[in-house]
Amino acid sequence: MVRGATQGAAWRLPRRRLAERLAEAGVKDARVLEAMASVPRHELVPEALRSRAYQDAALPIGDGQTISAPSRVAIMSEALELEGSETVLEVGTGSGYQAAILSRLASRVISIERLPGLAARARRALDRLGISNVVVHFGDGTAGRPADAPFDAIAVTAGGPAVPQPLLDQLAPGGRLVGPFGERGRQDLLRYRRAASGAITVEDLGPCRFVDLIGEHGFSA
Ligand code: SAH
Repeated sequence: MVRGATQGAAWRLPRRRLAERLAEAGVKDARVLEAMASVPRHELVPEALRSRAYQDAALPIGDGQTISAPSRVAIMSEALELEGSETVLEVGTGSGYQAAILSRLASRVISIERLPGLAARARRALDRLGISNVVVHFGDGTAGRPADAPFDAIAVTAGGPAVPQPLLDQLAPGGRLVGPFGERGRQDLLRYRRAASGAITVEDLGPCRFVDLIGEHGFSA
């Protein structure tokens, strides 16, 4: 389809520039930068906001939720230390953008969204982009997905009071969990690691602000 192809090409340069700015801002993982330079974020934001798709800003996606800013997605993805063979769990599918980025960095992505409308929309968008290694489930992601566990990496993309214990329990030996935890609207991005021995350690990657993680092991609605 010529029209579609032409439209796609027009976004390539702004997307490349975005990846360059992220590199200048300190993102080092070449695979993450390549994913940021190739996933069409404009296909995952509401049509009226497309012109802003390659600015480094969170944008509203409906249902009171947001698509995270590209720098946030890049930093979280980098912090997961993916090499390509992993099974990754994402809690908070939202637009599907982070899932699309993760689909290029890992082998399999399982993403959970608590709002049925968003889950359905993200599923359709990912299908349209031909991304076949992401599965979107509707439900409370704070309970994880015991049926698909253990996970080599877990990305929590909404902010909760503390890391949900079921998610730590579903982390494989050597696995990483990255997510924002702390007070409502004022969290720290934390990275948990499960050692081969089973021991869990945690690092603070700095302050951040995410929409609420709502669920059994999150905030109440
Ligand atoms: N990763 C998304 C960011 C979306 S914002 C993106 O790239 O667009 C966070 C999302 O987490 C919202 O869509 C919100 O509805 C969802 N969410 C909040 N609590 C959740 C829970 N317990 N389980 C699953 N999704 C949840």
